[in-house]
Amino acid sequence: MMNQSMNQQLVKVSNKSLVLQTIISETPVSRASISQKSGLNKGTVSSLVNELIEEELIFESGPGESSGGRRPVMLHFNQKAGFAIGIDLQVNRLLAVLTDLQGEIIVEQTIKLADNHYSVVLSNFHSIIKELMEKAPDSPYGIVGIGVGVPGIVNNSGMIVHAPNLHWKSIELKQELEATYDLPVIIDNEANGGAYGEKKFGAAKQSENVIYISAGTGIGVGIILNNQMYRGINGFSGEMGHTTIQAGGRKCVCGNKGCWELYASERALLKEAKKVYQQDQIDLEDLIKYANEKDKRALTIIHEIGLYLGYGINSIMNTFNPDEIIIGNRLASLEPFLQEPIEEVTNQNRYQFQQANLHIHFSTLATHSTALGMAAFVCEAFIRPKEGLSFLREFS
Ligand SMILES: [Zn+2]
Repeated sequence: MMNQSMNQQLVKVSNKSLVLQTIISETPVSRASISQKSGLNKGTVSSLVNELIEEELIFESGPGESSGGRRPVMLHFNQKAGFAIGIDLQVNRLLAVLTDLQGEIIVEQTIKLADNHYSVVLSNFHSIIKELMEKAPDSPYGIVGIGVGVPGIVNNSGMIVHAPNLHWKSIELKQELEATYDLPVIIDNEANGGAYGEKKFGAAKQSENVIYISAGTGIGVGIILNNQMYRGINGFSGEMGHTTIQAGGRKCVCGNKGCWELYASERALLKEAKKVYQQDQIDLEDLIKYANEKDKRALTIIHEIGLYLGYGINSIMNTFNPDEIIIGNRLASLEPFLQEPIEEVTNQNRYQFQQANLHIHFSTLATHSTALGMAAFVCEAFIRPKEGLSFLREFS
């Protein structure tokens, strides 16, 4: 009997989730149309809709445009029912966004990190989170969770196993934040967050097989195959920044030599620029300025980085045969200068027959892909709880 009632609950949970998903994707939509699209009968739809209205996840609006007959009441997803915090942890800054349940940014905040020591970064986390929480508008559910993208390897239980560019090992940021804020916390590799952000809101909306290249201080890759995030068996996929592109090349913090990110990342670019300009404080913004002024030295350095990005992109094309490759993170702001050298390499080596449907784009979300993607993971978990467990708790 227990099992039977559990099953009934699960069916109800999954029906309710289906109704909510239909409203989210079709908003505004009538009850009749939900019934048609979901295959659930009108009575079931009606009672689940009433529950969702009571829970303030959806709301009704007055009759739509008249088309002669009786005008139905329309249902809308209440995207302001709660808010998510998405944070992109970079080597030298934190970028945080507060979004509604549909990824619309309400507030954003950046903190420069003077130091990568975990205790310093953690106190910056607390101040940025508190600031966004204070700025969150009133809502029925408040903050529904915190998502953090990190430049390193994260295992399936959310532990930061190794972040070489931060010199972090075995860091339990998830536990720390969960304990402090009593909220669900999702930690993921920043390239996975970026890939999801682009898939949900950016250049990859229409694509099923997406490779997102996060070209920042280092390089990471987020992989979406058949509309699913691909994480590998332990969550360690996408460390393509550490594939060898130069045998016996430059020495890397990962222990290998000649890794891709030593030749094609922001750090590689700035290292070269510092040498060429004999200037220690030069940053990406300076280089963009010089390149816009057509300074030959800047153009040459950036061209070189573009060629190296192209070599890595070739491997990605040949490995995954994706329909979309997106170049994101800091180096995406060099799009006008990188496009040509990248194409120079990829066009030369492209198996035309194999890559006919491939698009290569730069991020359309500027530097926000990861923060937005992490906030979206949180919203997804809130709206579509795994196995419907949190809905189930309410019912029992
Ligand atoms: Zn390496």
